[in-house]
Amino acid sequence: MNFCTRIGLLAGLLISTFALTSHGQLAVRGADERFKADILVVVAHPDDEGAVTPYLARAIYDLHKRVAVVYGTHGSSGANNYGREHAAGLGDIREMEARESCARMGIKNVWFLDGKDTASQNVLNSLANWGHGPNLEKLVELIRLTRPDVIITSLPGVFIGENHGDHQAAGVLATEAFDLAGNPVVFPSQLAGASAHREIYLENLQAWQVKKIYYFPDANDEKQFSGTGPAYSIKEVSPSQKKPYWRIALDAATTHLTQYPADIERIQKMSDAEVEKMMSDPDGAWWTEPETLVFGKSYSSSKATDDVFVNLEGEPNQCQALSAKVPLPAAGTTVKLGGPWGYYRYFREAHCLGALRVAEPAEIAAMAGAQVYVPLTIVHAGNKALKLQLKVEAPKGWKVTSGEGEIALPAEATSEMRVEVETPALPASELKANGPQEIIVHASVDGTPAGDIKLRVQLRSHALPQ
Ligand SMILES: [Zn+2]
Repeated sequence: MNFCTRIGLLAGLLISTFALTSHGQLAVRGADERFKADILVVVAHPDDEGAVTPYLARAIYDLHKRVAVVYGTHGSSGANNYGREHAAGLGDIREMEARESCARMGIKNVWFLDGKDTASQNVLNSLANWGHGPNLEKLVELIRLTRPDVIITSLPGVFIGENHGDHQAAGVLATEAFDLAGNPVVFPSQLAGASAHREIYLENLQAWQVKKIYYFPDANDEKQFSGTGPAYSIKEVSPSQKKPYWRIALDAATTHLTQYPADIERIQKMSDAEVEKMMSDPDGAWWTEPETLVFGKSYSSSKATDDVFVNLEGEPNQCQALSAKVPLPAAGTTVKLGGPWGYYRYFREAHCLGALRVAEPAEIAAMAGAQVYVPLTIVHAGNKALKLQLKVEAPKGWKVTSGEGEIALPAEATSEMRVEVETPALPASELKANGPQEIIVHASVDGTPAGDIKLRVQLRSHALPQ
């Protein structure tokens, strides 16, 4: 009998709903307990898990929690800093590095979505290039399989920092899946049991409501998030492992050779005392002490700073249904920051994330010498055609190259456009000294003021494209 025939014959048995107990009684099979997780970590790239491994070490080794990880992409468009392989070949290697890193922490249940590594700061680019729909469906399925109480994922929002669109996309998908996985009419074929003999397409999973979702940012200034969720010491010594949580996390991170081989090789040559000294230096440490998990929301009532595993049960909160709507035509025309900022305004409303920290005014990092875009969304009063006047205030030495002046907009509900500003290619020494600088767009409609749109921009020698 060849292998394929054996699989074919087994199929009839595998989809059977019943099992015989030791007393010969028929019993319905339960969910596979090998895949039950307490925490599901949803991240974009291999090595992103490293942002929360100090907390995961605590959860796994000392709280005896089960952790599973889902990666959104294989990280295949980055540079290979170790070997010759690139593109899909590099993605294959990074999958193995990620699996080995997780295995070092005792995490065996690891899956990869089909997202394509997308180098930009715009979450909408990542969602488009990943294939938002199929990957959301897959993530909902993995939640129904792993049945986690808690999701930990990247922060969906725009901040000065790496601000990777893929990181944000992981957070967006995880938030959407939090709201959908418990709903029995969402992707129902995942939940349906076999209704006929040899019905092989239905998955027989269970609808599952995750109880809490926490985020971690890739912003430069992590201090701004202190107090927005529970904080855990990374320096505390694990009672079971007899070493600090950061040390367990560091040892797990050293599998990512294609990403930061020089750091790994340097650390491997250091004595324990030298590594400890490096990790206590704020400039050299890989993690901030303490590590704050930014509270997203809880299905039942729970305070932001409550411990992760407190208040998992109880009556559901009021705000759980999808509630964002396309705005009604405003009494007057409004002009607001659009693009990812506009999207996130609706996203936070739709997913009951009103308390999530937002940079105010809006901010972003950009490469010195590159264009900065200020995307605008114009909501027309009464869907009427109008004349928009834009005047731009930019820092000295910056040049407005497009979008200023009077623009005729057609009769429609909303219009999208952007102002483009060329930034100066300043030397690194000057960039270090400068803080964020502000672009202000003064908007008027048919001569009446319609809003001042602000964007703070931190110029740097390197940043992802906006
Ligand atoms: Zn990443």
